Amino acid sequence: MAVDELLHSNEDSLTGNPEARQSAPLTLFPEERDPGYTVRESQRARTVRLNMTPREGLVVVVPAGYNLKRIPGFLEEKRAWIEKARIWADGQRQIMALRPVARIPDSIELKAVGETWEVSSRNTASGRAMAREHGGRLLVLSGPLDDTGACLAALSRWVGRQARRQLVPWLDDLSRETGLEYSGASIGNQRSRWGSCSPQGKISLNLKLLFLPDRVVRYVLVHELCHLAHMNHSQRFWARVRRHEPAWRELRKELGDSWQHMPAWVENG
Ligand SMILES: [Zn+2]
Repeated sequence: MAVDELLHSNEDSLTGNPEARQSAPLTLFPEERDPGYTVRESQRARTVRLNMTPREGLVVVVPAGYNLKRIPGFLEEKRAWIEKARIWADGQRQIMALRPVARIPDSIELKAVGETWEVSSRNTASGRAMAREHGGRLLVLSGPLDDTGACLAALSRWVGRQARRQLVPWLDDLSRETGLEYSGASIGNQRSRWGSCSPQGKISLNLKLLFLPDRVVRYVLVHELCHLAHMNHSQRFWARVRRHEPAWRELRKELGDSWQHMPAWVENG
């Protein structure tokens, strides 16, 4: 339900949400001390937008110079969406809390490309943590193994290199297939979005996509490519997505639930 928020925090995907308009006013946050949301000013924002993530909760992104007194009224208008998104975020947080504490993994499964890599750890007390490929599907992690954070960061950097090697050619193939041309691609390790497309035609992809099933990744790539034709979530945009991915509705839902499939160590990298 908050899929689009996860995909793009840079768009007002709430516009046109019919449920939000039907609701009667209600005091959302009776206690003044904890308003239940965070306000963030953005130079790029042109309108107010909402973002819900399991980590941060509700974030209200406002354009520079926005009158903050207008926020409570805006939130009341969006109450229905906020309630649904909060339930979703609470569920995601519960799932995350049940997962084991992050430790160095014995193997890494990159579901998107059907690869499983064994991780062999070699303690070298001095020097920087590094992950190197050694033939087959063996990944050698070397460095100070007691510094779990540094080791996990090294593994994340390796996943980032894999993402560049595997996701960008995939995006190229889909670009040819759909006739939608982008101007550049980059890989990031964003906390709250799977991908984004800039007005200049640059597509950014989250390295965590490699941990998702290939059908879901394909949907994200198609979704971002379709933004090259429509920089919004209008009906015309979704019609374009459907043309290239008829099962988009199911995949969009699957994507929304997919944070729970993320290995515990990845988010700490
Ligand atoms: Zn989108």
